[in-house]
Amino acid sequence: MKEQVVVPADFEAATIPFLERPLSKLLGTRTAAPLAKMGLETAGDLLRHYPRRYAEPGTLTDISELKPGEHVTVMAKISSATIRHMRSRAGAMLNARVSDGVHDLSLTFFAKRQGVLRMHEDKLRPGRVGLFTGTVSDYRGERQLAHPDYVIVGLDADDEDQAIAEAAKPIPMYPATAAVPTWRIERCVATVLGQMHEADVPDPLPDSVRAAHRLDTLFESFRRIHQPDNDDDWRRARRRFRFEEAFIVQAALVRRKAAHASLEATARPLVAGPKTLLSRFDQQLPFALTRGQIQVGHEISSDIGSAHPMQRLLQGDVGSGKTIVALRAMLQVVDAGGQAALLAPTEVLAAQHARSIESMLGELAFGGMLGGAEGATRVVLLTGSMTTAQKRKALLDAASGAAGIVIGTHALLSDNVQFADLGLVVVDEQHRFGVKQRDALRAKGGTVPHLLVMTATPIPRTVAMTVFGDLEVSTLKEIPAGRAPVATHIVPAQNAAWMARTWQRAREEIDKGRRVYVVCSRISPGDDSSDGAETISDDAYGENFGQGTPGALFEDATAPGAENRELASVEVLSEQLRSLDAFRGINISVLHGRMAPADKEATMASFSAGHTDLLVSTTVIEVGIDVPTASVMIIMDADRFGISQLHQLRGRIGRGNLPGVCLLVAPLSDDNTDARVRLEALARTTDGFELAATDLELRHEGDVLGAAQSGRGSTLRLLRVMKDADLIAMAREDAERIIEEDPTLASHERLLVAINSYLDEDTQEFLERS
Ligand code: ADP
Ligand code: MG
Repeated sequence: MKEQVVVPADFEAATIPFLERPLSKLLGTRTAAPLAKMGLETAGDLLRHYPRRYAEPGTLTDISELKPGEHVTVMAKISSATIRHMRSRAGAMLNARVSDGVHDLSLTFFAKRQGVLRMHEDKLRPGRVGLFTGTVSDYRGERQLAHPDYVIVGLDADDEDQAIAEAAKPIPMYPATAAVPTWRIERCVATVLGQMHEADVPDPLPDSVRAAHRLDTLFESFRRIHQPDNDDDWRRARRRFRFEEAFIVQAALVRRKAAHASLEATARPLVAGPKTLLSRFDQQLPFALTRGQIQVGHEISSDIGSAHPMQRLLQGDVGSGKTIVALRAMLQVVDAGGQAALLAPTEVLAAQHARSIESMLGELAFGGMLGGAEGATRVVLLTGSMTTAQKRKALLDAASGAAGIVIGTHALLSDNVQFADLGLVVVDEQHRFGVKQRDALRAKGGTVPHLLVMTATPIPRTVAMTVFGDLEVSTLKEIPAGRAPVATHIVPAQNAAWMARTWQRAREEIDKGRRVYVVCSRISPGDDSSDGAETISDDAYGENFGQGTPGALFEDATAPGAENRELASVEVLSEQLRSLDAFRGINISVLHGRMAPADKEATMASFSAGHTDLLVSTTVIEVGIDVPTASVMIIMDADRFGISQLHQLRGRIGRGNLPGVCLLVAPLSDDNTDARVRLEALARTTDGFELAATDLELRHEGDVLGAAQSGRGSTLRLLRVMKDADLIAMAREDAERIIEEDPTLASHERLLVAINSYLDEDTQEFLERS
């Protein structure tokens, strides 16, 4: 930071940038105090407290819409104002009536002395238009505001012409509180703007960028957004601020990416020859890689072959075969003398990965052991539920380098796990591997390992750009050929015959040697939330998107018609199914997050091996579980799940060459149209990208980005990641150009300050969440 040595007369003004000056200095402590309660403490806070909307002058509020108890601001025309003495108690009362042209609203003011009321009477002249704010009450069947705070439109003007001009301007409506009504904020803003000069607010947007998009300066935009002469003014200002937000975020990400790329990593280039683990693995693969797997494989292979750390996100729909892509990358690293770690979001998944990777590798996975091939490596599982002895052995294998591949949860990144030479970290099923975890990786000794983050959640491009624009993105679009399709049907829960047929159908599949999942949203009856117990080990999976996170998409609160019904629970339904004729002689097990890890593990193993035919579970099976012989999934109360969660769940079947059937059981009624649209979308397509698009259409922007947007400090106020996709893409290009020209941003000091404060917020936010 630069030191300021000069101490001019006006010390304060010269040292503190205008936007950081306290409002107590600019407005006086009394005026500033209630603003501080709203979190507005500096000039910058206030000027970035943008109007939520603009009232069109002359457009009166529909009074019939007002509900008793609501705190409202109403624009209405005064029809009368009369003062009355009151017999019952001392003092007087002023009653005014205002109108929207159709309905009336009554305003009442009481006072001991008439003088105060005369003052109101003088302002509340019939014919004038005003804004009135207060809490609506119901007085003898009439809507009324008692002691409203108010302002008369155009009253402050010096002459009539000015009054007319003033009265034609859009009226900013601020997010306000009962203590600080919107026009008080407007006046405070005016006071602050009156003290601000162009030189006080240097623009974080580089001139070239602003010129290219014909954006106004920061100084002009502050005035236009707060004191617009017309609608065009505030629209331009909003566009500029939106662009500014997008640009700062993109510049921060581009810079972080560039900084990371300049770090050193150990290159793990592809080792040629038939004897390598990778080539022997490829030879024994029972199927051909898809074109996408080959192409993404090349991208990753060349990344990890370079001396700078890879930072790559691999997104691929459920079942697109990401595990093999990751495994091949891990083998390349092992061939080059390094180790790889695979992080799963849950212990169940980690164990499954260990099992399936061992079986795919066969004798290549048992280095130094009986039955191991020559030059084989060792695959080691390390989870909390293992015995102390097992753990000790696994830790030893990791530390000595005997284990080429170590599989576990995030615990692998903890201090007591040492690697001999960690070259690659693969993070499965998480699309936000946060800053903190990345730092933990970096601190893992030696050079920075290469990083591959995998997710099955299709993320729209600009969302990806905003949330982790510092990663390279690879996408696996196609699903391996020969995969039998999954047919999806909606089953109306209230229809007993259909339900009976549903269980019958499950039985038929089991008789063919296949396996069935039944998914419930609850473990026990009356549980008030879903089972998130084991699905999430950290900020794993979907925290920022609400997708895939059990609970995040449960629209309990909003789903109409869903309030009072008893939801199917694992405990109750498993008992009911056991007593059904259709399931006589069938092995039924349960799986949920409240079970001990070892029990979960044993249950999954039994289901996978075919000792269990039907598994009643919660959403613990949502992510990654791979049992190719499972062909039926019945999802109870399917209307309680979100699209992407249903898509993930359904992804558990149809993984082999057996045609799958997914039955969505829901009590659909006409007033639950959102749920119906969701379920019909699922019945129509298995394309994750198409479903993600439908999902986004149905949901609010805030849910899409969750904390990443709505709660993120002060940087993202106006930007809407879906709606402003074009703007974000443009900002990205500009940011790349600016940072390429000037990597340290030496000539863009203001931008650097803005970026750093954004990154501080980001890190802050992240730390608060974890
Ligand atoms: P996801 O991308 O959802 O993690 P997986 O990696 O678990 O998917 O792969 C799903 C299934 O597809 C696995 O059983 C895997 O063995 C199989 N698979 C992967 N690649 C291919 C391929 N190229 N051809 C046929 N089957 C494949
Ligand atoms: Mg997977």
